[in-house]
Amino acid sequence: MSVARTVVIGGGIAGLAAAHRCAERGDDVTVVESAPTVGGKLTSHVVDGLTLDAGAESLLARRPEGLDVIAAAGRAGDLVHPAVSGAGLWLDELVALPRQQLLGIPSNASDPDLRAVLGDAALNRLAREPALGEPLPDDMSVAALVGGQLGDAVVDLLVEPLLGGVYAGRADEISIEAALPGLLAEVSRAGSLVGAAAAMRSRSVDGPVFASVVGGLGSLPSSLARANGVRVLTDTTAIGVDGVRGEWSVRLDEAETIVADQLIVAVPGFAAAPLLSSVAPAASAAAAGLDYATVALVTAVFDADSVTAPLQGTGFLVPPSTGRVTKAATFVSRKWEWVGRAAAGREVLRFSVGRQGDRRGLDLDDTDLTRVVLDEVSDVLGLRDAPGASAVTRWVRSLPQYRVGHSDRVARVRRSLPAGIAVAGAAWDGVGIPACIASGWNAADRVAAEDGDG
Ligand SMILES: Cc1cc2nc3c(=O)[nH]c(=O)nc-3n(C[C@H](O)[C@H](O)[C@H](O)COP(=O)(O)OP(=O)(O)OC[C@H]3O[C@@H](n4cnc5c(N)ncnc54)[C@H](O)[C@@H]3O)c2cc1C
Repeated sequence: MSVARTVVIGGGIAGLAAAHRCAERGDDVTVVESAPTVGGKLTSHVVDGLTLDAGAESLLARRPEGLDVIAAAGRAGDLVHPAVSGAGLWLDELVALPRQQLLGIPSNASDPDLRAVLGDAALNRLAREPALGEPLPDDMSVAALVGGQLGDAVVDLLVEPLLGGVYAGRADEISIEAALPGLLAEVSRAGSLVGAAAAMRSRSVDGPVFASVVGGLGSLPSSLARANGVRVLTDTTAIGVDGVRGEWSVRLDEAETIVADQLIVAVPGFAAAPLLSSVAPAASAAAAGLDYATVALVTAVFDADSVTAPLQGTGFLVPPSTGRVTKAATFVSRKWEWVGRAAAGREVLRFSVGRQGDRRGLDLDDTDLTRVVLDEVSDVLGLRDAPGASAVTRWVRSLPQYRVGHSDRVARVRRSLPAGIAVAGAAWDGVGIPACIASGWNAADRVAAEDGDG
């Protein structure tokens, strides 16, 4: 049997995971990546001489995929978990973010941390979750389900901050089925949302919740790309795909073409749409309809003496109803020991800004954005002096918005792809790194199975 020629468009974590799996089974693999380096949202920058994550900085360790990829990249020895646990929620003051929750949905109505967040009236409402009346629909917004069962305060104060972090999305738009697949069915089984959240949480494995590697997640993609000898064409943009099954022509920006038996498209929806327009017009249209949120990160490095509040836990989230521009803070040098060691006498803090429908911070230039964020957090963090260095990273159209009906859109896309072409990545099956890796692996398996069918 001849060696399959596989082209992967997009060298983010999904594309690299797909490429790795294809290379493992002996395919001749080429990854086409438009940026100068692989990794997509996993990338690093240097601030005040410190190499830090400029995008994703932590992966869920309760799913196996991220840890598997760290091992496959030859980095198992660098595996680390956060040095501190727990996070805060910034209301009038900082309170503890209740731990017994699933994307902000309480899984224990008696969690003592809920009172400081919700207050008595909202806590009573939560405790009086109504019995399910009508059968639940196949999908609905997160806000409709959670607000209806547990009250609007749970949406505003717990769910919105979590959704803002993961999707930069809004609870009244994001699909519950896409955000928490299987939850609706579990609610119907358990008869209550709190019960369903508890049931789903009880099935997650024990052990640390999050992981990274020494050097940061930004250092992982290049290790993974090297590990299996896949050919990587960086600074190369795919601009179109033509051809027929078993003979796909990928046009590159340098007026070159590469031919593939199998093609995996692992780029955001808006980038996938033009690539698929000739070979899969229906998939292209569905991909084009996927909306994206833009976010920005402000990383600031302070002398340790300049931050006088006790920094507890990994950071804090901010409910949008507080009206603040700042959406979240990560105490990077506390969360990751390797950063704390390198920072020696400095404190590294990272703030995130921007969510769907809120461009207030995003429309500012870097200087003003940094000033607005640092003014906002100054009291709660006890900031005494300006940071020694800071950097703004903008992630334009970076987080797909899984609206109600997202799963149908994905099914439509997959149905209309010709055999030998698969899609992978955050646009489809989950934005978290493990979900992106799984979607890369699945795409690799799918094109191989279709090759065998042919
Ligand atoms: C600021 C930020 C922080 C995040 N933090 C976390 C976190 O801590 N933990 C977590 O689990 N998730 C996090 N996420 C989400 C997660 O990082 C992403 O969903 C995930 O990395 C997406 O991977 P991907 O491979 O699907 O896409 P991408 O990373 O977007 O990769 C796609 C690649 O395709 C390339 N490309 C696009 N078009 C073309 C083309 N035409 N030709 C060639 N190449 C092309 C791009 O340059 C890019 O490298 C974060 C996201 C953001 C934006």
